[in-house]
Amino acid sequence: MRGSRASARSSFAVVGVSVTLLAVLAALQYRWIARLSEAERARLEARLDETAASFCEDFDRQVARAYAAFSLTAPDDDAGLTRLLGDSIRKWRVSAPFPELVRDLYVIRRQPANDVELLCFDETVRTLSPCNWSPALLAIRRHLRDPGPVSALDEELPGLVLAIHQSPAAAAGTADARRPPRDHLIVGFDLAFITGTLLPRLSDAHFGAGDRLAYAVKITPTDRPELVVFSAGPAPGSTVGEADATHLLFGLRAFPDLRGAVFEDPQSTRPPPRQRRPEGAEPRQDLLDQRPPPPDQQPPAPRDRTEQGRWTLTARHPAGSLEQAVASARRRNLGISLAVLAMLGATTLLVVVSTRRAQRLARQQMDFVAAVSHELRTPLTAIRSAGQNLADGIIEDPERVRSYGLLIEREGRRLTEMLGRVLTFAGIRSGHQSYRRDLVAVPGIVDAAIEDCRLVLQQNSVELEVKIDRDLPPVRGDAGALRQVVTNLIDNAIKYGAAGRWLGVRVGFRPTSGRGEVLISVSDRGPGIHRRELPFIFEPFYRSADVASGAVQGSGLGLAVVRGIVEAHAGRVTVSSRPGRGTTFTVHLPAFREENRELDGT
Ligand code: ADP
Repeated sequence: MRGSRASARSSFAVVGVSVTLLAVLAALQYRWIARLSEAERARLEARLDETAASFCEDFDRQVARAYAAFSLTAPDDDAGLTRLLGDSIRKWRVSAPFPELVRDLYVIRRQPANDVELLCFDETVRTLSPCNWSPALLAIRRHLRDPGPVSALDEELPGLVLAIHQSPAAAAGTADARRPPRDHLIVGFDLAFITGTLLPRLSDAHFGAGDRLAYAVKITPTDRPELVVFSAGPAPGSTVGEADATHLLFGLRAFPDLRGAVFEDPQSTRPPPRQRRPEGAEPRQDLLDQRPPPPDQQPPAPRDRTEQGRWTLTARHPAGSLEQAVASARRRNLGISLAVLAMLGATTLLVVVSTRRAQRLARQQMDFVAAVSHELRTPLTAIRSAGQNLADGIIEDPERVRSYGLLIEREGRRLTEMLGRVLTFAGIRSGHQSYRRDLVAVPGIVDAAIEDCRLVLQQNSVELEVKIDRDLPPVRGDAGALRQVVTNLIDNAIKYGAAGRWLGVRVGFRPTSGRGEVLISVSDRGPGIHRRELPFIFEPFYRSADVASGAVQGSGLGLAVVRGIVEAHAGRVTVSSRPGRGTTFTVHLPAFREENRELDGT
């Protein structure tokens, strides 16, 4: 007993230490995952910002390249201008990385008397001729009429508005040097090319190819965010709140590495120096020609925010925001970690429980050996001393000789019964026990079992109350084994419930959703079984603590044998007990019906 208490204490200590360790681990894990998530968020944000910035930079590089290519110095006459335009567009077409970016060239010319004329440049025949105003060009004309500086960017067209200045030498000393330029060159970009080719290629190169785009990318006019110029990538789950990265593009910026670019035929130029890619950016196609424009053709510094970027690029994580994505990844990680810890805890608990179970089993087996030896010793002692007396001729009275014979027979039967029970249990356990499958009438079996126990009942002065419904369907099974079941239950009722001096046996039928059940119940008015012991009484070798130490003999196998036999008959055993009021064991056996004959394999 002391040993089992010590082992229980050590089990509790193991569980306690494991639970504490797991709690500490869980806390550490929680903090660690929180830190990791924060670092991951910062890393992703920085990388996304860098990616978006280099996307915009690459786009603006093309704008700057066009700016450089078409910043012209005024020639002496129209023929010179036409020639200059022809040369510029030819050089652009052969040397720009995206020659399709520029679609049209126009010249807006101030006329005397504040009039304005529009000239279209025909690239194929190289002529400048008057043409009609489109709405976007009309808007540019309005800007040109306004006093003050004219922006070189136009997002309506979209394109560039470049003043054609006089050469410093020609303008020096003349009144023209102070006058606004007469001609403006309008470089019309091809919007369909920008949205259909240039932006998709840039977004593939920077954000990942096609459907695998990790972010929802959107480009809108900076001052009209409700319009969409371009969008790509997965639709974000939510667009509420700030985007994960916002950058301006289609702006005027100087690219120092574009200095000195000469737009000539590619064959005549040196190979370009390679541009350093932003750290962490995916390797991408070499989109850009690195030959820089001449120093004086750099775009001027932007005057205001709209000059920094007429368009705005926003990138958003498909989860709604990077914050949400990281938070949900964190929740997932936490869930997995907790599940692992919970599994660890459950495993520890399982190990402790099964160790305790094994210990209990070992103890019960020892008790069993002790109980069986004790049970065997009593009848064997009686048999030996009776035999000795008879052999010594001490007993000569025929009546006493007969009673000695009866004693030897009774104790021998007890031994046989006990060995039979042990063998049955061993058979059930090994799975080798086989049962007959006859059609048997339960009332007859119960009658026979009662007869088996009648003598013991009388010896213990137990009143017997029997109620048997004789009109019952048969059950399929082994009459001998079922008789043993009832005998065991009656034996127990006498052994443990004798104090109640009453024993009830009932046999009846209970309809069920299937074929119905034949019920055999054995009740006593003994001390009952404690609720906490009920789950264990059918376990082999289990004896309740109260009886194990008392005078009632037993091996703890009776109910295990009962359950084994009943379950082999596709039935079950239930028990209801109220401490101090008595116990009822009920055996439920499936009734046999003629219509189930095939089902039962007969
Ligand atoms: P055994 O009788 O040999 O101890 P059993 O398997 O028949 O073993 O019973 C297991 C335990 O169940 C018993 O030790 C006893 O504590 C309890 N028990 C069984 N039947 C009754 C009963 N009718 N009333 C009270 N306790 C019972």
